[in-house]
Amino acid sequence: MVDKYKVLINGEWLDSSTGEYIKIVNPATGEIIAEAPKCGVEDVSKAVEAASHAAPAWGAMPMGERSKILLKASRLIMERQEELANLETKEQGSPIRKTMNFDVPLCAEQLEYFAGTARAITGETLPVGPWCMSSTVREPLGVVGLITPWNFPALMVIWKLGAALVTGNTCIVKPPSTAPLTTLKLGEIFVEAGVPAGVLNIITGPGNIVGEALVTNPKVAKIGFTGDTVTGKRIMQLASDTVKQVGLELGGKNAFVVLEDAKIDSAVEGAVFGAFFNSGQVCAAASRFYIHESLYDEFAKKFVAAAKKLKYGDTMNMETVIGPVAYEAHRNYVESCVEKAKKAGAKLLLGGKRPNTADTKNGFFVAPTIFGDCTNDMDIMQEEIFGPVVALARFKTNEEALKLTNDTRFGLSASVWTENIRSGINMANQIKAGTVWINDHLIIFCETPWGGCKESGWGKDLSTMVFDEYTKLKHIYIDLIEQPEKPWYGILK
Ligand code: NDP
Repeated sequence: MVDKYKVLINGEWLDSSTGEYIKIVNPATGEIIAEAPKCGVEDVSKAVEAASHAAPAWGAMPMGERSKILLKASRLIMERQEELANLETKEQGSPIRKTMNFDVPLCAEQLEYFAGTARAITGETLPVGPWCMSSTVREPLGVVGLITPWNFPALMVIWKLGAALVTGNTCIVKPPSTAPLTTLKLGEIFVEAGVPAGVLNIITGPGNIVGEALVTNPKVAKIGFTGDTVTGKRIMQLASDTVKQVGLELGGKNAFVVLEDAKIDSAVEGAVFGAFFNSGQVCAAASRFYIHESLYDEFAKKFVAAAKKLKYGDTMNMETVIGPVAYEAHRNYVESCVEKAKKAGAKLLLGGKRPNTADTKNGFFVAPTIFGDCTNDMDIMQEEIFGPVVALARFKTNEEALKLTNDTRFGLSASVWTENIRSGINMANQIKAGTVWINDHLIIFCETPWGGCKESGWGKDLSTMVFDEYTKLKHIYIDLIEQPEKPWYGILK
């Protein structure tokens, strides 16, 4: 018998109204590790009612009080670092080395950041004229639905939940069906930290049922979504019926541009991290590489040699740096991308096969895979793979590199590698993306805004800009003079 989890509605841990469960599989071993409730529309309605009921009191609580609850949650996360890291590794497949040292500490740090910075949210006094005092205030939106993906289950929920809660919203979280367990565990932590009943509700279940019920519910003021572009488009359509606000952090196809004067060894190191961190299951992963023709051969050789050294296998081993991809159907998709690239004429430089060692054979592993001699018309240069599979192409001039970089429907991120700061900045200014790194790739801080353009979505997570996403601006006008003196009344006289 595996553990059966419950969902959080109105401060109570409950089974689903359907009585059904989703099986949660460890992608490193193929074993079922737990079951989570397969909720339905009825559970969503209950959660929305609870969140609506809790909204006025939570929204009226002083910011400092809400902030203290977040700080306590942050401390509790670090007290349970090992438990959370183990769970995240088992349900998502990220090696324990990463979940212990990266995911869990960052969750705690981000809550601290939100708790601190939210207290500095202010309104403005507007210089309209002597007739009035005109000012703006920021108010909570009310009930918000937060729909999160499986690639960083804990971090993605904290990015949204921390900002939404501290600004006074009540929340219904819909975690990914393949990896909902750390989110449920975080729910326990928030309750222990003092989040009142109804303020945080967590509902597990299929996106097309639970997610859509949230998106279409008229009492939900906003949907904060991170996930696939196709799902994002569906959410936009459904949200239009109630003119609901949506924040969309969607897919990416991120360019890694190595200019003629780049330091090649630094670029190679950045390439390995940018491409293979979290098995490439990162919206901002470096996935199409444009290398100046004079550096191409050396870069490709060194990149392949470095990627070959990455140790994949047992995710509970602290030495392992690459885990499997997150579920079986996703492995099949990644493999189909590899086959397509081979057929399209891309040159396989590394990987391309399923590893078959004792500690990988039952899991959903994909060996780090590098293709060379790619061109922008190939699917491998245009479609998001979301796995450890990357493509290299050559360019001759910076103008050509820029044109190739912008030749995509996505606009999440890109990096430029150069020793000439002028070239780097000029390139960064012209790349159509939410973030451009110069001489780094994939580095995101609490302080820096995150979000893309084009089909990568809109809105920002992180930084203080995230507070604009979870508050509404109200203008308050206070009359200061006697009626007869107001010039605009003359129009009707
Ligand atoms: P999905 O869009 O498949 O799923 C994301 C979430 O949406 C899951 O909770 C899912 O539920 C839910 N969902 C699925 N269908 C619907 C629906 N019709 N209505 C409402 N909710 C729905 O994305 P993935 O989980 O596959 O995540 C990977 C994607 O996320 C990649 O494209 C990646 O680029 C993107 N991403 C973007 C980031 C950014 O900041 N821009 C950051 C991280 C990832 P269920 O699991 O039950 O299907």
